[in-house]
This record gives sequence, C-alpha cells and structure tokens, in this order.
Amino acid sequence: MVEHSPESNAGHTGISVQISRDSPISLTQEPSHDGLQPLSCSQHGIFINNEWQDSVSGKVFSVYNPATGEQICEVQEADKADVDKAVQAARLAFSLGSVWRRMDASERGRLLAKLADLVERDSIYLATIESLNSGKPFLPTLFVDLQATIKTLRYFAGYADKIHGASIPMDGEYLTFTRHEPIGVCGQIIPWNFPLMMTAWKLGPALSCGNTVLLKPAEETPLTCLYIAALVKEAGFPPGVVNILPGFGPTAGAAIASHMDIDKVAFTGSTEVGKLIQEAAGKSNLKRVTLELGGKNPNIIFADADMDLAVEQAHQGVFFNAGQCCTAGSRIYVEEPIYDEFVRRSVERAKRRIVGSPFDPTTEQGPQVRQHQTRVLEFIQTGISEGAKLECGGKALGLKGFFIEPTVFSSVRDDMIIAKEEIFGPVQQIMKFKTIEEVIERANNSDYGLVAAVFTNNINKAMTVSTAMQAGTVWINCFNALSTQCPFGGYKMSGNGRELGESCLREYTEEKTITMKMVNKNS
Ligand code: NAP
Ligand code: MG
Repeated sequence: MVEHSPESNAGHTGISVQISRDSPISLTQEPSHDGLQPLSCSQHGIFINNEWQDSVSGKVFSVYNPATGEQICEVQEADKADVDKAVQAARLAFSLGSVWRRMDASERGRLLAKLADLVERDSIYLATIESLNSGKPFLPTLFVDLQATIKTLRYFAGYADKIHGASIPMDGEYLTFTRHEPIGVCGQIIPWNFPLMMTAWKLGPALSCGNTVLLKPAEETPLTCLYIAALVKEAGFPPGVVNILPGFGPTAGAAIASHMDIDKVAFTGSTEVGKLIQEAAGKSNLKRVTLELGGKNPNIIFADADMDLAVEQAHQGVFFNAGQCCTAGSRIYVEEPIYDEFVRRSVERAKRRIVGSPFDPTTEQGPQVRQHQTRVLEFIQTGISEGAKLECGGKALGLKGFFIEPTVFSSVRDDMIIAKEEIFGPVQQIMKFKTIEEVIERANNSDYGLVAAVFTNNINKAMTVSTAMQAGTVWINCFNALSTQCPFGGYKMSGNGRELGESCLREYTEEKTITMKMVNKNS
C-alpha cells in the first residue's frame, strides 16, 4: 500500500493527495503553509516572472488521470500573447546588468543545487502527482524518474562555475582567448512521457550556462512541471529566469518556435513536430535548434547471449513506461538458432506482466497517456493485417482508463509498418536473422538512429555491432542504461544535438573569440 501524508509534503501547492491501494484517489485543497501562492487544485496558473498568472485569453484546459479517464483539474492555457509576456520577462532577466547576468557562476550553481534539494525534499509528493497525471507506476516513478531528475539538476549545478574557454596561441602579436557565453532566451518544449525528467534535462543545462528559459510542458502532463516552478521561486531564482507555460503545441508551442526574440529552441517529441520546429526557426530568426526525436530502436540478440538476461532486458527495453519511450527497443532481431525459444520466453514474460493501477505497488505497467491508446491499438490492427503473428495481447484492458495488454508480435518483416514506425506503446516486434553482416544492415536500415543494443558474450561481435550502429547510444548486454553523465541524442531523423553529459553545455552556449593586439611601446 502506498500512503501519502498531506502534512509532510503538500504545503507548497495547496494540493493534498491521499492514496491507498484499496480506496480511490482523492484530492483536497490545503491552505498554503509558506506564503507561496498555492497552485489551486481546480485551476493552475501560468508561471511568468515568479508569479502565477491567468491566461491573457481567459482560457483554461482540463488535465486528466489516464488510469480513470477522470479530470484532475483545470490549468490556465497559455497562447501566443502569454508567450510574448514570458519572452519579455526572460529577455529582461537576461539583459546586461540584470541580477542574473551579474550573478557569480558559483551562485548560479548554488541555486540549481538548492532546486535539486527541494525536489528531493518533495519527491514523494512529486512522484504522486507524476503518477496521477501520467499513469506511471508510483514506485518506479519515485526510484527512477525522481532520482534521475534530482541527479540531473545536481550534475548541471556542479558545472555552473566550470564552463570556460581556452587561451589560444594565435599567430602574430596577439592575446587570444575564448569565452563560452549563454545563448540568451531559450524556449523549451517537452513531451508527456517523462514530464519531470524532461523538465530537468531542459532546465539543468540551460540555467547552469546562464540562460533564461520559457518551458512548455505537454498539454497532457503539466502538473509536476508547474510544481517545479513553485520550487524555482522557493530556491531563489530571480524573476523571469524560469517561466512555465502550460498550453498546446500548435498555439503556445508554435509561438515559441517562430518567436523573433527567442535565441534557441530545445524540443523533445515526435519527428513530425521536430521538422515543424526546425522550419519555424528557419523562417523566423534562425534561432539555434536542438531536437530529441523519436526512435525505432534495434535490439540484436546473438545465439551466444545469456538467454535469461536477453529476454528480460528485451522485455523491459520495450515495455518500460508502457512502451512510451523514445528509446524503446521495438525492433528485436534474434539469431536463427534461438529464435523460437526467445519468442516462447518473451511471450511467457509478457503474459506475466502486471498491468494495473499506478498506485498498486505490484503494478509494472500503468495506462497509456489518454488518446494515444487509440493510436497504439490501430498499430496493433495494422500489424495483424500485415501478416505478423500476434502471440499475445492486442486489446485494450479494463472498462476505465487507457490500458493496453502487453502485446508480442513474431514473424515480423522489416517492411511492415509495425517494424518501421514508432508505436509508442507496449508492443514488441521480434524478427529473425542469420548473419552479423545481414543484421547490421537491417538494423541500420531505418530513418531513425537514437539507440541500439546488442546481447552477446563475444567481444568481437559486441564491438563490431556497436561501432557499426548508426545510433547516438549503443548498449551492450543492457538496455536503457541512461545516465546524466552520458551524452544522449540521435543520428539521422532522431534529432540534432546532444542532451546530458558535458557535451550538452555546447548546446546552451555561444563560443566567443576575443583577440587583443599587444602593443609594446618600447619596441
Ligand atoms: P508531439 O506532438 O511531438 O508533442 C511534443 C511536444 O510538442 C508537446 O509539448 C506538444 O504540445 C508540442 N507540439 C505539438 N505540436 C507542436 C507545434 N506545431 N509546434 C510546437 N510544439 C508543438 O508528440 P505527441 O503528440 O505528444 O506524441 C506523438 C508521438 O510523438 C508519439 O506517439 C511518439 O511517437 C512521439 N513522441 C516521442 C517522444 C520522445 O521522447 N522522443 C516523446 C513523446 C512523443 P501538446 O501539449 O499540444 O501535445
Ligand atoms: Mg500532443
């Protein structure tokens, strides 16, 4: 049973959440304890200049619990006019001589570290809201998403006073050095599959480098991002440095991408929208663009692999987060001698997967995020009509909410839609291969190139495959081994630029060369 005490961690939003395995989730409103304006349970604001504001249009939108389909609350809907207000605030906060620009880099780091501490303090509350709003099982949310969020903020807090250039031995009588300066006002647009982690992946490096930010969470999952805004204020960031704009992609998101006074846009989401972002940036002010997009990631299993490990990792690799991961290992290539056995064991594992309430501690898989259930079920029908063998699952589950049975397809061919397009659901595709050359070619034959994995006990095969993969990350005998310290991003249509790791700092700074002529009056 998961119990959440309102006294311990609800004071900062005014929302209290009581959850038990046997009783329905209830939300009640508590008075604010600390002078922060509470995020009302029935209506959440837009966060601009460290203040909660109503939308200029007066519009609000509903936020739902995907496990029940019921409305949780309404949120103010940011649109172009609100984006304009946030840009003005962020621009002022970035102006020369502002508190933020004059702040010591070490102090910037301290603020980010403080934000990480506050997230840690309120992690049970944040995990509760994240589970409620996204349908993620509570325990993995607490132990994976929250930990990753905190670690990311701390990692980039540590970098704030270590971002520096070089002195360069330029020809002639010159002194030359470089500075790595913040880019300016950064627009950030994130998806619904990892709302908290994506918030940290975006805010951490941008703030560490000294930028100001306006961030649009996904329409489906704005709640934890709004709570982070309250913590940003509590940590002591100056007004205008962080602005959070809940709203829709085609309105608020598009206004960010095409804004003439935003210097950089960082986007995570579908490849289709990534193209629109790049186009809008090109048609407006050529703002810098980084894109973290979809994947149709190959997972290659050789006959010499540890079978138990490979089956379990391949299972987790595709079903984690109900399959709603850009890293999902959804094209599984299995060497011929072990193919039948691998399929049998994968089906047996998928049938044992526990699907249910996010707040039941035994649950492995919660619901899909709302309307995406329909999309995933359509993909499953496509797989069946294309002639793939449906080994198990394939249907919606339960009368309420947006659950889908863990689904396994065997006898999948590379030219089928289910082998080419990102399904973003709990659907595993298993294919057969005969030679290493063949599997490398087939694995790379995709528009995407985000991650890849290989399972083998032969070091030569592991290295041959991992160096040949056109993918930003390759895992050997593991899957989803992501870490804040390691750069992450895609080849090909999986995106541009890298998030996380030291490489990410490049994406949030401009490099300036300063050259001074040395004047020697005695010569
Ligand atoms: P999406 O449409 O790409 O949404 C991602 C973010 O972009 C959301 O905040 C969205 O706003 C915003 N957006 C949408 N249209 C926009 C536009 N014209 N201009 C600027 N911003 C815009 O993804 P989705 O609809 O949520 O999911 C669709 C598919 O995308 C999934 O099935 C999956 O294949 C892929 N996806 C990939 C990732 C990833 O991590 N790479 C994550 C999520 C989804 P809204 O709030 O209106 O949605
Ligand atoms: Mg959307």
